Order: sequence, then C-alpha cells, then structure tokens
Amino acid sequence: MNMKQRIILKSGTLVQNGESKIVDVAVADGKVVLVDENIAIEADDKVVDCAGKVVCSGLVDLHVHLREPGLSAKETIATGTAAAAHGGFTCVCSMPNLSPAPDTLEHLQQQLDIIARDAVVKVLPYATITERRMGDCVVDFAALKPYVAGFSDDGSGVQQEAVMAKAMKAAAENGCIIAAHCEVDELLRGGYIHDGEYAQKHGHRGICSESEWQQIERDIELAAEAGCRYHVCHISTKESVALIREAKRRGVQITCETGPHYLTMCDMDLQEDGRFKMNPPIRSAADRDALVEGIQDGTIDVVATDHAPHTAQEKSRGLERSAMGVVGLETSFAVIYTKLVKTGIITLEKAVDLLAEAPRRIFGLGGKIAQGEAADIAVFDLDAEWIVEPDKFLSKGKATPFEGWQLQGECCLTMVDGKIVYER
Ligand SMILES: [Zn+2]
Repeated sequence: MNMKQRIILKSGTLVQNGESKIVDVAVADGKVVLVDENIAIEADDKVVDCAGKVVCSGLVDLHVHLREPGLSAKETIATGTAAAAHGGFTCVCSMPNLSPAPDTLEHLQQQLDIIARDAVVKVLPYATITERRMGDCVVDFAALKPYVAGFSDDGSGVQQEAVMAKAMKAAAENGCIIAAHCEVDELLRGGYIHDGEYAQKHGHRGICSESEWQQIERDIELAAEAGCRYHVCHISTKESVALIREAKRRGVQITCETGPHYLTMCDMDLQEDGRFKMNPPIRSAADRDALVEGIQDGTIDVVATDHAPHTAQEKSRGLERSAMGVVGLETSFAVIYTKLVKTGIITLEKAVDLLAEAPRRIFGLGGKIAQGEAADIAVFDLDAEWIVEPDKFLSKGKATPFEGWQLQGECCLTMVDGKIVYER
C-alpha cells in the first residue's frame, strides 16, 4: 500500500466526543489529514464508502492476554492482534502473566521484540508490579515506565498491604498507573464460579464477592494516601461499584473497567461448560444490574474484555476443572451494541466512549479523529446481524459464553496508522 495515497472514508457517521455527525475523513501518510463535510475526491484517492456506517476512534482494550512470550499454545501476538483488528481494536494493553513476566527491561524486551515483529495492531504491555509477579518485591518503576501502559500483577492480587503501599508510592513518584487485579487469596476457599444460587443448586464451590471488594476497599485507602493513579481491573460485584463510586466522590484518582459478560449475564445463565468460567466469575443478577448502573452514572469508566485465551483441551473440563478465562476481542462491540445500546440502556456515543475514548483519555493514548492525529480508526456496520460462531474467530481461543448469541453490529474496517489492517 502506498502510504502517500489518500484514503477517504466517505459519508460515514463520525461518533466522537458524545456527538454524531456525517462527515468525510481523509487519511494519508499515517495521519488524519482532513475531516470535512464534503472532501473533493482526487484521481489517486482510494474511496471507502461509509454511508450508513459508524466511524470512530479505533477501540482500545486495556485488558488482554496475548500469551507471548511463553504460552503460545493458547495465543500468540500475531493471532491475538489479528483478533483485535477483527473486532475493531487498534490498540490493546497486554497483561504480564507471561514467561518470563515483564518485571525487568530484559524480560520485557522479549515481548517488545515479538510485538515489533508480529503485531497487527498497537500493543502496549503492562509491566508487573512485583518481581516474577510473586507479590513480594516491587519492580523498578522508573526503568520500565517508558515502555509500558502501566503496572499490573494481573492474574493475582497483591496480597501484602505494605507491598502495595510501596508500589503506589513508586507509581505516584513516577506518574504511572497501577492497574490492579483485586483478589484476596485467603477468601477463595477453592471456589471457581460465583458463590451464589447456581453454585448452591449444582453443588459447586463458590468465589465470594468479598474476595474482590475487600482488596478494592484496602487499595482505595492506599491510593488516596499515596496520591497515585489507580485503575481497578474487571470489577464484578455491586459492592465494588459502590466503593468506587464513593471514592470518586471523595476525589481519589480512581478509574475502573468491567467486561461485556459481567454486564449482560448472571450466574443463573451458566451452563456446565468451561466456556462460562473466568476470574472474577459472572455474578448475581443484582451484581449485573449494579454494574449497568455504574456504567450509566460514570462510576465505571471503561469496558475491557479480559480476553484470556486457552487451548480447547484446557477449556474442555467443565466448570470445576477448566482453566479460568474466556476470549472477548471479537464480540465486545457487538455485545455492547446489541445488549446495551439497542435496548436503550446507553447511547451509541456512550458505547464509543467506554470502548475507545475513555481508555485513550485515562492512559493518554491520543487518537482522536482530527487533523494531524494518528489514523487509528474503526468503521462499524450497525445493521449487520450475525451469530457468534467461535470457529470463525481469528483468536486461537474459542471459549466464549456468547457462543450462539445473535448479535448486531460488525466491524467492517480497522485502520492503524493509516494502514488498513482488517477489512470485511
Ligand atoms: Zn485479572
């Protein structure tokens, strides 16, 4: 592709900053060069007819597991980013439960080399909070900061309060974000789905809500004291929503994310199948409703998928014995559009904010559709109806609780730095 050639996204509905308007967008040499009501077409232009389609900043997923280096049977940076492009994502932030974990520049470099070689969309890794993600020794924040989205021990909570306090002090001193997976190990008691009605009825061991919100409650106080930027990963309980709502009211620098499955399902939707197993688990209807309210009132800033692929074998052992985690990159937009926008719970503009604009604001990623900005853009066909068939995913991971769902809204084009990386 000639990067000097202009690509004109013609007559799309640009959804940006809470507003929608029909405009043309011209892209050349990796950047947006013009946004105007009617751009005159020149002989060499490539024109993409976007009439009736939504044009927005490329989606950003703050929480994905790309599994490289170390776990490439589950996913690779090549397949994970191809899945991201298929879903309309132009940037994903990769979690550090890898081998080796990115806890030093040397270990991080292995991941950065694979990204440079194989990634189809932008990948910003998280560094770990603690060495080997073991929860004991805080990493060198200053050394790692230039190369990472933030710091996370995702996959595990940081159990020791003194260690988290030290990490938050380092985050505050270096202007970094801590993205916390909150989970109190001693409250888990061998649980693997939500400790609720479904677990009781079917004789499963449950994970209590307190295992999540107790650590959020602890961390809010630590973050307030340290004055650091604190982002809570994948919240799933009504108590978490209430705690974060109150912390925001007090002025704590806190943001948070939840996933499409927590907003659209409850534990009574579970089936005896590994594709319904993830951590945190899908919780009660009251939790789901509180999360939706948290989205509506701005307590929850971001929808992130926690895309966590595993092999078919690892997901084939039922609820008790399958690995934790489901894929999400290729269903996220359509689930949110079908279940929250089409039903009138949130507006399309709000959905774009949750999936693209808010993560960009919080992590300082730029990417507005405006002259001079990097051309990271997604185009969606809101009329397209489709059924979730995991065999069609580009991800190696096929386990999703949305299998068989009839959805509406499909990505038809994804562009990264002006280059088309996915086209329907
Ligand atoms: Zn996590």
